Amino acid sequence: MDGDLKQRLARWLRPEIAALKAYHVPDARGLIKLDAMENPYGLPPSLRDAWLAQLRDVAVNRYPDPQAATIRSRLRAQLQLADDYEIVFGNGSDELIQIVLAAFAGHGRSVLAPVPTFVMYEQLARIVGLEFNAVELREDFSLDLPATLEAIARLQPALVFIAYPNNPTGNAFARDDIEAVVRASPGIVIIDEAYRAFADSDAMDLLTRYEHVGIMRTFSKEGMAGLRLGYLIVRTAAATAFDKIRLPYNINALTQASIAFALDHAAVFAQQAQEIRRERTGLFAALNRLPGVIAYPSATNFVLFRLTATDANQVHAALRTRGVLIKNLHGAHPRLAHCLRVTVGTPAENTAFLTALRATIAPDISAAP
Ligand SMILES: *Cc1c(COP(=O)(O)O)cnc(C)c1O
Repeated sequence: MDGDLKQRLARWLRPEIAALKAYHVPDARGLIKLDAMENPYGLPPSLRDAWLAQLRDVAVNRYPDPQAATIRSRLRAQLQLADDYEIVFGNGSDELIQIVLAAFAGHGRSVLAPVPTFVMYEQLARIVGLEFNAVELREDFSLDLPATLEAIARLQPALVFIAYPNNPTGNAFARDDIEAVVRASPGIVIIDEAYRAFADSDAMDLLTRYEHVGIMRTFSKEGMAGLRLGYLIVRTAAATAFDKIRLPYNINALTQASIAFALDHAAVFAQQAQEIRRERTGLFAALNRLPGVIAYPSATNFVLFRLTATDANQVHAALRTRGVLIKNLHGAHPRLAHCLRVTVGTPAENTAFLTALRATIAPDISAAP
């Protein structure tokens, strides 16, 4: 009957879901894709046959190993994890965020994160029915420690998320500030190290020194976004709790085999990360040389920049017309007014982006020889 479903949804759909907007992924067909922090290099052709040979033997008629034992033991060894730590795998770290939030959801409970930050913390908090509390970063994107500590004391959040380094700002918060947040938090603190490969340091020592800290990482930004694998390192008691929520076969067999292969060839991906870091330096400098552009220092594989003389919406659209897709953050948060975010691509992609940007915001300069 016409209109019947709409009425049923209006009656039964959870109000917080009805109020939500689905995560929007723009169509990138035919464009140079620099919007999603993907590694631009892909698997080197020389490795492709060996990878496919490994996949040939995967029994796709069987359920995957629910423990992902092969990659688990390799990662344990690589990270030199002691016995009292466990790894929880997720279908991307997005799923881990959801698992952790679901474990602590409940009436009157909340989660806290400094903002602007990774949007999935808030999106998934709402989905599981947890109140999300944002604490504003300072103008220079550093943690506002007094405000954060005050909010923690007042709100007593079950969970705190800290992206280290942070997305979309690109900076890594001061270690002492993070430690102060960890010490003040009454619940669990998840330090999200999605950009570890491009940063100078990690927070592993906090994991060792504080039982209520978890470190989350992902293969997505290092060249395997399509495989969807994230992992969370926590004390065993926390892992046992999270494992009750995790779907038993959440990491598919092709992903398990492919990640095992990637771990065997870790040097290839480390080399790519080095190249991306080198390119980042050039991209950052080139952006800052442009009139009306302020680029922010980055410990990630992207660069956030602000337009001081032009409109970010217009520039973003013009770049797209010129064949380059980046991320428009104007309107996402007051601190990000007229900000755009570009993923570090190959040298050719970065040059194409800079050429398109110059032609858009400084056509006089770009016309000069
Ligand atoms: C990209 C990103 C993630 C999501 O990673 P997936 O493993 O692809 O789900 C998590 N946290 C931050 C800060 C990110 O930027």
